[in-house]
Amino acid sequence: MKPRNLETVLEVKHFTEDLFWFKTTRNGEWKKNFRPGEFNMIGMPGGESPLRAYSICSLPEDNFLEFLSIKVPDGPLTSKLQHIKVGDELEVTTRAVGTLVLPNLDVYELKHPKPRLWCISTGTGLAPFLSIARHEEAYKYYDQVIVTHTCRRNDELVFRSELESNKAVVWQSVTREEPREGVSTGRVTDKIRSGDLFSELHYEGELDFNIERDRIMICGGPSFNIEIRDMLEAKGWIHGTNRAPGHYCQERAFVESL
Ligand SMILES: Cc1cc2nc3c(=O)[nH]c(=O)nc-3n(C[C@H](O)[C@H](O)[C@H](O)COP(=O)(O)OP(=O)(O)OC[C@H]3O[C@@H](n4cnc5c(N)ncnc54)[C@H](O)[C@@H]3O)c2cc1C
Repeated sequence: MKPRNLETVLEVKHFTEDLFWFKTTRNGEWKKNFRPGEFNMIGMPGGESPLRAYSICSLPEDNFLEFLSIKVPDGPLTSKLQHIKVGDELEVTTRAVGTLVLPNLDVYELKHPKPRLWCISTGTGLAPFLSIARHEEAYKYYDQVIVTHTCRRNDELVFRSELESNKAVVWQSVTREEPREGVSTGRVTDKIRSGDLFSELHYEGELDFNIERDRIMICGGPSFNIEIRDMLEAKGWIHGTNRAPGHYCQERAFVESL
């Protein structure tokens, strides 16, 4: 059997007791480079843990890989992964897949002169949008890239300033504590339904997404993914796939986070 690809940990940053970020080398040979939004698999070396899916936060052009990770206390992988240190090795696959990619969105039906890409995330669902909103490709097609991030607590709202310095518009909210300055409160789905998301972003006079102006990417827990999918499909929005680009797309295989 071909040995699994090992990468070395270059940096680790702990944000909260539930959330951390790490960067690894990228020495493995990728037959095909990943696309922003795709995920690969990560595990502890020597089969000490199962391999788990991880969205790649870095760019296809980078010579390193970055990941944002949950810490599940009894999780077969993250109970160990959360203790990694600079110089440790990890198993990192060199093939990425996923449905949360720009080509799955139909840009040809956009009629508005200033089209917008919405990247709507909860928890570690932000990870693929770090790659997408950092990459120049999104800004070629869209006048604005808006990243929404909802978490339980303020300290979990990470990467705002970096995204903003990359030209993205960032809207954040918390569900379990008082929001700090610049952060909203409550679930993003409620904010979409009420129209408050648009007024909080100063899109005056707008109460909903506009199918001729907006394309939407969704990444979060399963109940969030289902709720927002149902909201969009009830209004005629079509899910985009590799075969048939649509008005919105989501990573169908994500996990609960709120
Ligand atoms: C397509 C895809 C992409 C993913 N990308 C990421 C990513 O970029 N970062 C990341 O941290 N995880 C990501 N995950 C989840 C990841 O694969 C693992 O589930 C996670 O690392 C925990 O692994 P574990 O073995 O410790 O626990 P698991 O046995 O995998 O999970 C145990 C329980 O923990 C909870 N849980 C697991 N992952 C999360 C999470 N991310 N947020 C909130 N609760 C969770 C769930 O309730 C789950 O049942 C992704 C999953 C999929 C399917």
